[in-house]
Amino acid sequence: MSTVLITGASRGIGAATARLFAQKGWDVAVNYNKSEQAARELVRELSALGVRACAIRADVSDPAQATELVEQTVRELGGLNALVCNAGIALPQQLLTDTTDEQWRSVFAANVDGMFYTVRAAVPHFVRKKAGHIVTVSSVWGMTGGSCEVAYSAAKGAVVAMTKALAKELGPSGITVNCVAPGVIATDMNAHLDGDSLESLRQEIPLERIGTPEDVARSILFLSDGENTYTTGQVLQPNGGIFI
Ligand code: NAP
Repeated sequence: MSTVLITGASRGIGAATARLFAQKGWDVAVNYNKSEQAARELVRELSALGVRACAIRADVSDPAQATELVEQTVRELGGLNALVCNAGIALPQQLLTDTTDEQWRSVFAANVDGMFYTVRAAVPHFVRKKAGHIVTVSSVWGMTGGSCEVAYSAAKGAVVAMTKALAKELGPSGITVNCVAPGVIATDMNAHLDGDSLESLRQEIPLERIGTPEDVARSILFLSDGENTYTTGQVLQPNGGIFI
């Protein structure tokens, strides 16, 4: 039986990923920060599929909490085969000149520091077994940069660079490190967009639809699966063909 820890799995892409892994027979640790009820309901749903699942509260931007998250996962599920660093936040769309110091720090704390702390805690478990899969979650903006999304683009660009560097560092230990960089996905993160904005985005997408969390979950599973033996340091872009 394989085990996965998914950060930010209470909602959106993380929750869809947790469902897909459980459907494939994985035991799943569902990390949440604020959405406790959603996380607990998800765990009930996953357990009903016959796999082991647990909800673990941790703010991954806090090093002690991120470390304990990994340790608790290993204690409760008996090991760790894959880590999905999905937790993240975006800022309201705004000019760089309107971005406060606090906003800049918050977006790096959740998206970059959180990944660093969680991966740092998980790596010794993977190295001991000389096996493991790490999948990080960037964004189309981390690949191309987005106007009025400079802080978020910079943080998601850092996720891509960390992924590539880590893939080189951990390859000799038999660990793969890959990234998914989703396009526009229908989750709470885009709930502020009105119908007209969503429609104009949709028209820019060659596959002519906004992505679903399940679209991204399938890419994450592909990169985490034990059958992924030779793909590392890559960025897979479930984005419907936008901005490629
Ligand atoms: P979402 O629906 O807003 O969900 C965000 C998740 O991250 C929630 O489960 C939230 O947990 C968790 N989270 C946020 N900060 C956290 C922290 N400090 N510690 C632990 N968990 C934290 O967002 P989403 O759209 O699913 O996004 C998931 C990932 O995909 C993010 O990294 C995002 O940047 C990336 N992404 C999204 C899109 C998109 O269009 N939606 C596109 C490209 C990339 P709580 O609710 O429990 O606090």
